[in-house]
Amino acid sequence: MATPEYEGQANYAYHLDAGKFSHFLQRHCCETLGVRHVRADVTDVRKDESGDIVGLDTEQGIAIDGDLFVDCTGFAALLIGKAMGVPFRSCADTLFCDTALAIQVPYAQPDDPIASHTLSTAQSAGWIWDIGLPTRRGVGHVFSSSHIDVDAAERELRAYIGPAGDWTFTFAGEAMRAYEFSLCGDGGGGATFDTTVAIEDGGTLAFNDDSCGLQSHLEFTAPYTGTFTIRVGSYHDEYQGTFLLDYRKSDVIFRNGYDG
Ligand SMILES: Cc1cc2nc3c(=O)[nH]c(=O)nc-3n(C[C@H](O)[C@H](O)[C@H](O)COP(=O)(O)OP(=O)(O)OC[C@H]3O[C@@H](n4cnc5c(N)ncnc54)[C@H](O)[C@@H]3O)c2cc1C
Repeated sequence: MATPEYEGQANYAYHLDAGKFSHFLQRHCCETLGVRHVRADVTDVRKDESGDIVGLDTEQGIAIDGDLFVDCTGFAALLIGKAMGVPFRSCADTLFCDTALAIQVPYAQPDDPIASHTLSTAQSAGWIWDIGLPTRRGVGHVFSSSHIDVDAAERELRAYIGPAGDWTFTFAGEAMRAYEFSLCGDGGGGATFDTTVAIEDGGTLAFNDDSCGLQSHLEFTAPYTGTFTIRVGSYHDEYQGTFLLDYRKSDVIFRNGYDG
């Protein structure tokens, strides 16, 4: 190596969309460099009598013969591990992080700023990555499963994301009028995940977690005429599932504790 370890010549790096980049490489290799791209699932590895790999058989019935094979099957290690018997060398004694939780976080507004760098934040037994993409953030927690369990790691990730992953709506409330917001499906809506619902105006005015099973229901009397935020969140399986929020506005206005 020309440079000492960990001292790269560039003090910057690029974010690339891995899917798009691989398509770009594929096109470049096939159209410019004369590479033949075969998309197939390897089922068998053929070896000669000396034990060298001479060909691959695939589920699609295409046989691939060659002189040089490079195993790019990731953890499957089909050629190097399964066929050649080279054992996996664990680095668990020095690389403790062995598990990752990943989540896609929508921007609150379409014109929210996009971070031009990865934010890496240390956690109790790992770290959280936060990568700004054009349409969303990619956030994840990579951690040592020997030092923290998945539930606790998920709580740390959730605490990091905070309310950014929740869905928010605003509504115009009328002073002393009652409103109902329901994810219980009682008005035809409902939710497919463990929800929370809150009404906010900078602070939290009302909150409900489990009103009907794991879904939420709120009755709220607006303390003044103004705009309020309804926040639908997920208690456990963050941001997974669908919901339809039922909304009811009462005909009744409460004044001084009396219906009127
Ligand atoms: C959540 C997460 C986030 C990450 N983020 C980043 C990041 O931001 N930047 C970064 O640099 N790295 C990142 N990494 C790491 C990176 O993805 C891996 O290091 C990299 O993908 C490993 O590449 P690979 O080619 O060895 O294996 P893989 O990417 O796993 O590729 C193996 C391929 O072999 C194929 N295959 C398996 N069996 C067969 C078969 N029988 N026949 C044909 N094909 C087969 C699979 O379909 C797969 O396409 C991330 C990893 C994870 C899990």
